[in-house]
Amino acid sequence: MNTDKLSLRLETVAKYVPKNSRLADIGSDHAYLPSFLAKNGVITFGIAGEVVKGPFQSAEKNVRAQGLTSMISVRMGDGLEVIQPGEVDCVTIAGMGGTLIANILETGKEKLSSVKRLVLQPNINAIAIRNWLVDHEWELITEEIIEEDNKIYEIVVAERGDPLKPYRNLNIETGLLVGPFLLERKENVFKKKWSFEIKNWKRIYEQLESAAPSNENDEKKQEIAKKIALVEGVLDNEESEWS
Ligand code: SAM
Repeated sequence: MNTDKLSLRLETVAKYVPKNSRLADIGSDHAYLPSFLAKNGVITFGIAGEVVKGPFQSAEKNVRAQGLTSMISVRMGDGLEVIQPGEVDCVTIAGMGGTLIANILETGKEKLSSVKRLVLQPNINAIAIRNWLVDHEWELITEEIIEEDNKIYEIVVAERGDPLKPYRNLNIETGLLVGPFLLERKENVFKKKWSFEIKNWKRIYEQLESAAPSNENDEKKQEIAKKIALVEGVLDNEESEWS
């Protein structure tokens, strides 16, 4: 394993872990992220949490091979259950779907009492995380969007605060869907992601149109048309014909 260099995706997550953190990396797999952060003097202590035996064993092996066992505790368990209350002040969860990340946060939320920062990297469905943060008094403090190996990733960073602050002066539905900080910046990779999503939604919409009519189909079509309208409005800065 080479923990001297992380993927751009994990490097971007690592960038938002504050110096001297006590970190829990949930779903750590090979423990690349906490190992990198420990070796670079960013964290003083790390937990690598894994629910699956194979990745848990490979995390253990890698941490041992790098002589990091005094700094990183590799623990087997579901989500935040591997953390003892008060043990960490930063949690990273990367490389899973947004719905799973939000479920992990919801199920283990009592373990977050000492946590000051969450750094989350959903592969899809970041909206589920933004919704959870708003519902639980966590304020988004920044977001990033990056492309690596033809995949686009969002990184969401939150601290306790005013959960609605980033959404003031915005249509909140749009902000929750595309990310308030990402919307503000509208980088090329952001435009690329959402142009692709729009194409995909239009394809699904057409399929639903040619399927047998049903209430369920109508509801799905309405939902998709709404998302297309919101995102086209953002990309074109003008009213979408789907509005
Ligand atoms: N975090 C690493 C990264 O970003 O490269 C690994 C991502 S890997 C695709 C997702 C990992 O999360 C898997 O190793 C899986 O076993 C683990 N995982 C999934 N659900 C989990 C849960 N509820 N608690 C702990 N680990 C979980």
